[in-house]
Amino acid sequence: MKKLIADRTGLIDSSGIRKVFALAATMKDPVDFSIGQPDFDVPEQIKQAAIKAIEQGFNRYSQTAGDAQLLEKIAGGLHTEFGWKSPRALVTCGVSGGLLLAFLSLINPGDEVIIPDPYFVIYKHVVNMFGGICVFVDCYPDFGLDAEKIERAITEKTKMIIINSPCNPTGMVYGKEQLEAVAKVAAKHGVVVLSDEIYNKFSYDGDSPSIAKYYDKTLLLRGFGKTYGITGWRLGYAAASGLLAQVIDEMIKIQQYTFVCAPPPFQKAAAAAIDCDITGFVNAYRKKRDLIYDGLKDKFELVKPAGAFYAFVKAPNGKGEEFVKKAIAANVLVIPGNVFSQKDTHFRISYATSEEKINRGVEILRALA
Ligand code: PMP
Repeated sequence: MKKLIADRTGLIDSSGIRKVFALAATMKDPVDFSIGQPDFDVPEQIKQAAIKAIEQGFNRYSQTAGDAQLLEKIAGGLHTEFGWKSPRALVTCGVSGGLLLAFLSLINPGDEVIIPDPYFVIYKHVVNMFGGICVFVDCYPDFGLDAEKIERAITEKTKMIIINSPCNPTGMVYGKEQLEAVAKVAAKHGVVVLSDEIYNKFSYDGDSPSIAKYYDKTLLLRGFGKTYGITGWRLGYAAASGLLAQVIDEMIKIQQYTFVCAPPPFQKAAAAAIDCDITGFVNAYRKKRDLIYDGLKDKFELVKPAGAFYAFVKAPNGKGEEFVKKAIAANVLVIPGNVFSQKDTHFRISYATSEEKINRGVEILRALA
C-alpha cells in the first residue's frame, strides 16, 4: 500500500493538549480551569428562536454566504461601527471555520504570518498546514502589542499580521494607540491584518477597540459561540470592505466546496441573538476575573486580564509544564503555556466556571505557589 497518511498532517502537533487531557482523565470532580467556553446557559429567547426556525422548516442549506436576514443585520452593525459603506460578509462555521477559509484564501506556501506570542493555538497549526511560515513576536512579560517589534519582524514575504483582542490566552485588550500603531506599520508595508475578535463583548474595563477602525485592509472574524453560550452551534462571521471584500468572495467560493453553509436554523437564531443584551453575563465574568486576579496576584506573577475569560499566569520558577502536573495532581486542571506559546513559562486559567470552583481552585493554586 502507498503511504496512507498525507504529509501535511505531520505539520500539526497536538501533543501538548493530548497530554493534558490524558492527565485529566484520571481526575475526580476536578476544578476545571481548562475549558474555553462560557458556563452560562443559552438565553431563552435564543433557544426559542432556534426551535422556531427548525419548526418553520429552515432545515435545508442556506445560501453559501449565509442567511440573508442575518447578513443584513451583520452588515448594518458594521456600517454603524466602522462606517463601512458596503461591507462584504460571510457566515462561517465558527470562527475556526472562518480562520480556515481565510488562510486558504490568503496564504501561499512560503508566506510569512506574524503572530504575537502567546497566541491562540489554531493559528500556528493551520498556517503550518498550508505551508505558511509563522513568525512569532515575543510579547512577554507584559503581553502588550508592540508595533516596533512587529515592524522588525516584517520581511518582503510577510503576508499577514494576526491580532487577537481580547486575547486568548492572556486576556489582554489592546488599546486604541497600540492598534493604531500596528495599523500604521501594516499600511506602510502593505500587509493584511486578520483581526480575531471572538471575545469582543467580554471586555471588563471599557470597550475593546477593533483595529478595523484604523486600518481598511482588515479581515474581521467574529463569533457567536462565546458571546451567547452556543459554541456547539458553530457560528461566526468574516467581514471586510473595500479592497479586501474580494477576500470574502474567495472565502465564499471555498466554503461552497467545504462547509457548504453554516447551520441554517442556528443562523436564524443568531439573527435574534444579535438583539440580546448580555450585560448580565459580562458583569458576572468581570466578578470572576476579579476573584482570580485578586486571589492570585500576591502569590503569582500575572498581568491583570481585561477581557476574554483567561488569565495567563507565570509558573513558579518559570516552569509551566512542571507546575501544571503539580496542579493536576492537586485536582486543578489548567493548561501549560507552551500550548499557546514558544515558551514554557506560564499556565492558562479559564475562569469560565462557577464562583465556588474559582474560590476552591484559587485556594489550591495558592498552596502550590
Ligand atoms: N479564536 C479564538 C481566539 C478562540 O479562543 C477560539 C475558541 N477557543 C476560536 C477562535 C474558535 O472559536 P469557534 O468555536 O467559534 O470556532
